[in-house]
This record gives sequence, structure tokens and C-alpha cells, in this order.
Amino acid sequence: MYDRLQAHLQKELADIREAGLFKNERIIITPQGAEIKISSGATVLNFCANNYLGLSNNPRLIAAAKKALDTHGYGLSSVRFICGTQDLHKELEAKIAEFFGTEDTILYAACFDANGGVFEPLLTEEDAIISDSLNHASIIDGVRLCKAVRYRYANADMADLEEQLKQAQAQRFRLIVTDGVFSMDGNVAPMDKIYQLAQKYDALIMVDECHSAGVVGETGRGVTEQFNLRGKIEIITGTLGKSFGGAIGGFTTGKKEIIGLLRQRSRPYLFSNSIPPVVAAAGIEMFNMMSQTNELQDHLHENTKYFVQKMVDAGFDIKPTKSAICAVMLYDAKLSQDMASRLLNEGIYVTGFYYPVVPKGQARIRVQISAAHKRAHLDKCIAAFTKVGKELGVIK
Ligand SMILES: *Cc1c(COP(=O)(O)O)cnc(C)c1O
Repeated sequence: MYDRLQAHLQKELADIREAGLFKNERIIITPQGAEIKISSGATVLNFCANNYLGLSNNPRLIAAAKKALDTHGYGLSSVRFICGTQDLHKELEAKIAEFFGTEDTILYAACFDANGGVFEPLLTEEDAIISDSLNHASIIDGVRLCKAVRYRYANADMADLEEQLKQAQAQRFRLIVTDGVFSMDGNVAPMDKIYQLAQKYDALIMVDECHSAGVVGETGRGVTEQFNLRGKIEIITGTLGKSFGGAIGGFTTGKKEIIGLLRQRSRPYLFSNSIPPVVAAAGIEMFNMMSQTNELQDHLHENTKYFVQKMVDAGFDIKPTKSAICAVMLYDAKLSQDMASRLLNEGIYVTGFYYPVVPKGQARIRVQISAAHKRAHLDKCIAAFTKVGKELGVIK
């Protein structure tokens, strides 16, 4: 049998390559950071990690993780409800709730699991999910696992959301679901308007803060801070894998009865291992640090502002952003790949995205700014973009 499957898979892989969609992985041989070394031996500046606060290699988190190895061991070898909960897990859940101003938190192995396990326990075929068209793949998959009636609205389009809410009035419970920051454009969901519509049409709200937590809002508390909605959103999901140290782990935080039922019924929680104690301990230390100082968030905001302004001054077409994601629009798929590869030769590691990751004719290079970037790093990146942009006729 494998002979036939093998031939089939070989063809699939060849087709992917032929379409120019094959994903090659570059190998990093240093810790994650602003400056990394890749296996070719080159040292490059990294502008494509989700390391927004620069915590992936933070000494305070590393020290907390090392200490936890000695006090709490390496692994739990169990799901939470059998024998996989340590004091560290409970403490981290409380810290996350405090950070977001919510009532309770449940940890998952990843936010992919948090989103995969949030809908099915709460909603049935009597209910409605109203989802933004650009929501993350894990939300789409989570919604698929649930029997609720599905409605979709165009990205951040409030007239369309209102229309869908009208359509969904017959259902028992309505849940609006949105990313806080959309990862390809870097735009922030209009939570104030979403909240108003939720009030008007009697709906609940869930927001995925993966790209917004640590970034958006004056102190990085995410979109609920930015729009003055702390404590008013029923469900927030997020990751420990981006701003918050970048290791692994996800969470759902919000109303205590919701979290309570998820602990009883959410399948990725009930049937998957606990996060390692080292990750929980470093997470606790990270939230302690965030409650003591706003230095990293401030630095990230300054960096983003500086970078976007300089790039606009240089003549680049940048999507308006309130996050740390800066989409340099090129529109042409091949151009996005040529430009990214030339930038790598200049020591700047960025990724070009094109269809089907972004709509046809909307190819771009996504630059992700970090608090780890120093002014000199940003200047080097801007200079490289300007040089390559001129060579390729993107700017004058
Ligand atoms: C990255 C991301 C996820 C997945 O988070 P993991 O913890 O890496 O599984 C989910 N939702 C959004 C919006 C994301 O950007």
C-alpha cells in the first residue's frame, strides 16, 4: 500500500514546490533574539519573530526556569486533572487573570489548543458564532469542532458584523469572535464598536490576544486595555509563545463559570499534557516583571513608531498599524520573494508573504518590531530596505 501513497505524496510535494509554495526552514544556531546566527554561518538581524518584548532569551526568565528545574522537576507526565497540576500552574493562571483583569484562567499546551477547545463545550446547535473572516486558523478549526450555526463577517467590517448579528437573532446565545491584532496587516480589531454591537444585539465576545498581548495598550494589556474594556469581555485567549517569553503554552481567561466548564469539558485540556514546570515558572516571573516595569512595552512602542515613520519617509507603502506588525506592501508575489532574499544578503531576516497566505495581489514583506531591537538595528534594517527597494524599483 505504501508504494501508492508514496507516489501520491511525492507528487503533492513536487506540486507544492512547482507552485513556489514550498516552505523551507532556516536553521538558527543561537538563542532567539534581535541578532541571530543561522546555519550558513551568517549573522543576521531578525525582523520576523513574534519576540515582541524581546523576552525569548531574557536572563530573568532563564534564571526562573533553571530554578524551577531543581524545585519542580522536568515534566509532569500527566494531564492536569489526574496528577499534572503543580502550585506553579495555579500561580501562573492567577497571574494571567490579574494581568488581563479577568476572573479565572485555564492553561493549555498552546493557544491552538485553547482555541480548539473553547467553542464545543460552551455552544450547541442552538447557538451562533459570528467570526471575523481573517481570524487565525486555530479559531477556524475550533469553530468547526462545534455545532453552533456559523456566521462570517468581512475583516473588521462593522456594517457586515451588524448584518450577521441581525441574521443570528433567532439563536439562543451569540458569540462574536475576533483576533485582537490581525497577523498579516497588523490592524487592531475595533473592539469599541464590536462591544457596542454586542450590547445592541445581545451577544458575547471572544478575543484572541496572541499578537496583541504585551504589545497593544499603554501597558501591553492588549485590546481590552486599548479600548477601555477591561473586565467586560467574556472570553480572552492568548499564548505564552509570542510576547510572553516565546516558549510554549496557551490560555483562556475570562468569566469564571466559562473557565469552570472548560476545566470539566474542554478536550485539549482534559486529554493533553500539562505545560512543563520550567515554562510555568518563567511565565510567573515574566508577569512579575511586567507588573514592576513598563520599560519593554515603552521601548517597543518607540521602536515601532520610529521604524514606521522612517519607512514611510523613505517612500514605502506601509499598512497603517497600531501593533508591532509592519506590512511593507509590494503587491507582487515574486517581488516579495526577491526582496526578502536580497534583504537576507544585506543581513536582514524578514519573510515575504503572498497568496494564499494573503489575498491575491496583496503580496508583502511583514516586518515584526521587537523591544530587543536597538536603534542601530532599526537603522540598519531601514537602510537595507531603502537600498534593495531602490534596486528593485519599489521606491525612487
Ligand atoms: C500564534 C497564534 C495562535 C497560536 O498560538 P500557539 O500558542 O503558538 O499555538 C493562535 N491565535 C493567533 C491569533 C495567533 O497569532
